[in-house]
Amino acid sequence: MANDAADNSTAELPAAPWDGRDAPARNATLTRILVRIAREALQGADLEAMMQGTCACLVAELPVAIASVILLDEAHAYFVHEVWAGEWTLSPLEATGDWPVSRGCAGRCARLGTPQLIADVRVDPDYVAGNDLVRSEYLVPIRHRQRMHGVLNIESTRTDFFDAEACAVFDAVADLVAGAIHFARMANELQQVNHRLEQLSMIDGLTGIANRRCFDRELDMGWRRMAAEGRPLSLLMVDADAFKPLNDACGHLHGDECLRELARICGEFVQGEGDLVARFGGEELVLLLPGRDLAAATAIAEALRVAVETKAMPHPASPVAAHVTVSVGVATALPAVPWPPERLIATADRAMYAAKRRGRNRVCAELANP
Ligand code: GH3
Ligand code: MG
Ligand code: MG
Repeated sequence: MANDAADNSTAELPAAPWDGRDAPARNATLTRILVRIAREALQGADLEAMMQGTCACLVAELPVAIASVILLDEAHAYFVHEVWAGEWTLSPLEATGDWPVSRGCAGRCARLGTPQLIADVRVDPDYVAGNDLVRSEYLVPIRHRQRMHGVLNIESTRTDFFDAEACAVFDAVADLVAGAIHFARMANELQQVNHRLEQLSMIDGLTGIANRRCFDRELDMGWRRMAAEGRPLSLLMVDADAFKPLNDACGHLHGDECLRELARICGEFVQGEGDLVARFGGEELVLLLPGRDLAAATAIAEALRVAVETKAMPHPASPVAAHVTVSVGVATALPAVPWPPERLIATADRAMYAAKRRGRNRVCAELANP
């Protein structure tokens, strides 16, 4: 079995005594181990399982008493995580908590950034015993390009185990583990960035509330949910009165500031589960209110209108008042699939224009019919 170098299957490797093998047989075993670990490093989905499998494989197949992967924190000041296999009742990390790189042979390896071959652990001042039978130790930095991730630690009960071939294999194993850690961390970072981008793609840059894309998605979902639950869905279309004259009189930046304030005020009126405030278009904001009937939605719209009035943002060019006001269209539907939710937008829009026609700074409401 030991000289079956061509068999690189992922099945359990057979255990065989190291002493009974000649040099080619030992090298064949080292090669097989390397192939197996390489495959797991490149194809394994779970990093923790890969590190665990690596340590277990080294201990099972070689005269290795302890094999461990010890990972550093971001600052490279402490070892903070250890995966190990072998005859160790308790790993130092488990016994002591985070382990400073100022301690131990692993710490020395991390500080110096070079492999440490310790032929006799009994005379090494940094050695911290984890198993009294251990005689020699080999430690390799786990580093991907310039980034240190930790240390691969291998301890043997023999004094003659760490020859050039074995050390070369352990160097390669450390590189494979480093690669696997690197890819796992990259995948994790990518996932986080994607999540952030997804969030950003749903937010309006000027006001910080949901944008039209988000509103469309939520309207669709809310519509389906209310249809399934047999509950009403209401929509408020809020349009600032005489906003162009405000821009003309005070400048667009001032207009932007008023728009942000209007969005903030609208945000105070979305308090129910599934409620949403979004920027629908230029200076039109919408409130999606699942579960509210026409009367409840109209009451919210009126309270919102009053809140904008009460804020009394000066408007020197409005034909309506000396301050910024809004006209609000309210629409309520009893959703049914496939009745399209756009009908709710059209109805709220119509109600909003009715409010404009009737003099602005007011609320008009209308039931949306199929
Ligand atoms: P009313 O609604 O009372 O009929 O009059 P209005 O002047 O508000 O007209 P409308 O609702 O059509 O508003 C369009 C104006 O809104 C055009 C533009 O000057 C302004 N506007 C749209 N988007 C923005 C924006 O992002 N920032 C600023 N400052 N103004 C915007
Ligand atoms: Mg307007
Ligand atoms: Mg408008």
